[in-house]
Amino acid sequence: MPPVNALPSPKSPGVSRRYLLQGAAAWLGAAAFAPSLQAQGEGPVLVLGAGLAGLAAALRLQDAGRQVLVLEAAARLGGRIHTLDKLPGRPETGGTQISNGYVRTLALCQRLGLFLEPNARSPLFGDARMVLFVQGRRRSLEQWAAADDNPLPAAVKALPPDRALARLLAPNPLSSVGAWRDPAHSALDIPTLGPLRERGVSEAALALLDVNNAFGDTLAQTTLLHLHYTQANLTELLKTPGPVRNVVGGNQRLPEAMAAALRTAPRMNSRVQAVEQDASGVLVHATDGSRHRGSRLVCTLPLPALAAVRFTPALPARLAEAAALAAYAKVTQLHLEVIEPFWEADGSSPFLWSDGPLERVFPQDREGNGRPPTLTAWINGAGTQRWDGLDDATAARLVEAELVRIWPSARGAVRLLHRTAWHQDVLAGGAWINWAPGQISRFSAALGPAVGRLHFAGEHTGRRLRGIEAAVESGERAADEILAA
Ligand SMILES: Cc1cc2nc3c(=O)[nH]c(=O)nc-3n(C[C@H](O)[C@H](O)[C@H](O)COP(=O)(O)OP(=O)(O)OC[C@H]3O[C@@H](n4cnc5c(N)ncnc54)[C@H](O)[C@@H]3O)c2cc1C
Repeated sequence: MPPVNALPSPKSPGVSRRYLLQGAAAWLGAAAFAPSLQAQGEGPVLVLGAGLAGLAAALRLQDAGRQVLVLEAAARLGGRIHTLDKLPGRPETGGTQISNGYVRTLALCQRLGLFLEPNARSPLFGDARMVLFVQGRRRSLEQWAAADDNPLPAAVKALPPDRALARLLAPNPLSSVGAWRDPAHSALDIPTLGPLRERGVSEAALALLDVNNAFGDTLAQTTLLHLHYTQANLTELLKTPGPVRNVVGGNQRLPEAMAAALRTAPRMNSRVQAVEQDASGVLVHATDGSRHRGSRLVCTLPLPALAAVRFTPALPARLAEAAALAAYAKVTQLHLEVIEPFWEADGSSPFLWSDGPLERVFPQDREGNGRPPTLTAWINGAGTQRWDGLDDATAARLVEAELVRIWPSARGAVRLLHRTAWHQDVLAGGAWINWAPGQISRFSAALGPAVGRLHFAGEHTGRRLRGIEAAVESGERAADEILAA
């Protein structure tokens, strides 16, 4: 059943003349439609996006007795939480690890009756059996640490390159997880390449550190301040001991349970394309032709998706500029069914760091029994380009060729089941916000504050912890702003 405030599309049969006039007035400008909104001033709060931020905002508003309508462009709840339910073992292709320090997320799980289980408890994750494949040579981590051609600085030589960066940038000048937005640190909002060179890191080592940097396409496009922030985030999380976990049955169960707890189900397949506001209310237009009136609005759209929405009146210049320019993480995942556990032939593990096209491989071993039904190749940043233009058959051939180069026993041992490229998903624009140099100083303060009746939430507006907890925290913050207004 359509929500009570859904207006019929002007194209739909039986549409009344009054609705047509309201629609026309809306496009003529705020003054023209103000009287019609006035009558709806106490309408529901509209929430754009049924990811964790939107659903957290909606639940909190509903708890306080407010009527809420969530509008979601996709056919699936959860946004960047996405469990691949049809694949064996249900691997995650979006947000995965729920830390013990995620107090708001854990409180939601408890309220909704969801259980958590330790993530990454597979025996295959041990360093002793992990494989490094660098410049065409395969080695164990122990061999890599002692290798003459390992160009990493002495302090990090025994680490796979993806774990070396934070160590090289220590000590962290941020005294707390919230300090990254403090203008006092804006001198750190610069490309990471310079400070690494100043510390004597060779060009060969920089090339390895660049391979799967998760916080910029390249180190030149990664701000040092963001790397210090991610490290401060980790330090904060380590204060609450305990394993990182995921929801039993898949993290997707969390947004599903949140949506099920709403009195009005989210309206799916409703991509918002325009938002208008005046002193008395908001009016939203979706691409399915529906229009929705509300008293206020919570917008949780990732910035690249926000940039595609027309706002009347226009958003403040700094916020619009952030939406147009903000960098987002490029992440490609290749989900591979294990037909034969090819790694057992040589006693290694399918836990790989490489400078080749697959970059890293992780076993998806939810059961923790060492028999993963799938593996995930995880490619970050500039390396995603190699995969973006390939059709599935070509990608599958490249996967096999690469695996066979590393494990000769891998021929015919895996099947490519699913590919995700977050940066190609127009509703996300990327995996997470990856501030480019200068962007934290220029944009971070502009993302959170309300603009009239519009309130902003989502991972990118987080102020303390990152990721899943930032999304939940931001949704609850936006709801609190509305309740206090
Ligand atoms: C590969 C990957 C791994 C990750 N790993 C972790 C991890 O281990 N731990 C962690 O804490 N975090 C992790 N994250 C981050 C975490 O998943 C996200 O920060 C969080 O889910 C973001 O929630 P959100 O509600 O802010 O945004 P989203 O989940 O993106 O929700 C926004 C919603 O808006 C919808 N939308 C977009 N445009 C429109 C429109 N025009 N109209 C209506 N709806 C629209 C989208 O479809 C989406 O559902 C990971 C993310 C990815 C992609």
